[in-house]
Amino acid sequence: MGFDTSGLLPLSDALQGMLEQLACCCDSEQLPLPEALGRVLASDIASPLAVPPFDNSAMDGYAVRIADLAAGTPLIMAGKAFAGQPYQGEWPAGHCVRIMTGAPVPAGTDAVVIQEETQADGDRITFLAQPEPGQNIRRAGSDIGKGACVLPAGTRLTPREMPLLASLGVATVVVRRPLKVAIFSTGDELKPVGTPLAHGDIYDSNRYGVRAMLARMGCDCLDLGIIPDDPAQLRAAFIRADEEADVLITTGGVSVGDADFTKQLLDELGEIGFWKLAIKPGKPFAFGRLPRAWFFGLPGNPVSAMVTFDQLVQPALAKLAGQRFERPLQLQAVTTEPLRKSPGRLDFQRGILSQGPNGLEVRSTGSQDSAVFSSLSRANCYIVLERERGRVAAGETVTVEPFGGLLL
Ligand code: AMP
Ligand code: MG
Repeated sequence: MGFDTSGLLPLSDALQGMLEQLACCCDSEQLPLPEALGRVLASDIASPLAVPPFDNSAMDGYAVRIADLAAGTPLIMAGKAFAGQPYQGEWPAGHCVRIMTGAPVPAGTDAVVIQEETQADGDRITFLAQPEPGQNIRRAGSDIGKGACVLPAGTRLTPREMPLLASLGVATVVVRRPLKVAIFSTGDELKPVGTPLAHGDIYDSNRYGVRAMLARMGCDCLDLGIIPDDPAQLRAAFIRADEEADVLITTGGVSVGDADFTKQLLDELGEIGFWKLAIKPGKPFAFGRLPRAWFFGLPGNPVSAMVTFDQLVQPALAKLAGQRFERPLQLQAVTTEPLRKSPGRLDFQRGILSQGPNGLEVRSTGSQDSAVFSSLSRANCYIVLERERGRVAAGETVTVEPFGGLLL
């Protein structure tokens, strides 16, 4: 095929190489349930209860013994059972019990018949259909057995887990402390928002993207601001981050032009590898160890920084934080327009996924230059184009990865 793969590291190799070296570094603590939102469970949660805790009715209707119905005569209503107010009385043969959803079924109930399948004449109830045994009864323990693992260690608690844990009576949980991540941007050209720009300056945008993604992940962020391309200031920032955080993430200064400079410094302080990844955008990437903290050096180009964070740093941070991590689902869609691509790198193009008349369709957001940030904001998915693939014609099927998680 003749494309140059020399020295370019496949994304999967880079990811595997990093993950092999990393282990969870966050201690655990016990928190009241409402304070644990966004935290990661340090151990499995076994259910202290059976759910539901008792046999109960799934519908409004009548609790019956099927043998009583065989005679074909109406049953007499013996009384009523409501959620929170079980039926307490006698239940002689030839009788049924009016029951509401969630109410415990009286002992001996074989089925609950919904009220639509009955006719009431005072307290004489006629049943229009023969029920199946067990019909409309939710059995004790049918959702969760007592002692069953309901959530495994590594689960990040979202609004979906909170009511589940509350339903089991779990008042406190043991969770990991948040991962502490120091960040800074490097570059003489960078200015913080809220200050005027001189000719040649640009606003530092990467720090806002990285901070936002860290917040989504539930990490604590130590923002060290903008550090100019000055060895003494960079050195001081690296040392401070290493002393105060579990992880340092920087952007800029890892491409060929700057790498020597950063490399010298990092060689002196720790063990850092400078990689050329076989992905686009986001070729330059640095990973390694400072004396205490792990280091991730992202490319300066804003789209590259976001994509390398999403694809590489996110799974690495999840591992350090003790969190189970799964990438969003990948889907197949038909591209409605040609896509520019040359073989040699795995492309994460920015796309707009929509439902077409015959299935999922995707189109490009336009320029895929890694400095064109608006293309990321207009997109709702990556178009993932395989490394060896060349130009894509309209009508071809491509893999898409809808944004969720971090980039939503
Ligand atoms: P570098 O990797 O430092 O060579 O930067 C590559 C490109 O990204 C240059 O055009 C930089 O000006 C730009 N860049 C680097 N850092 C940032 C940042 N924090 N925000 C916006 N653009 C940046
Ligand atoms: Mg730079």
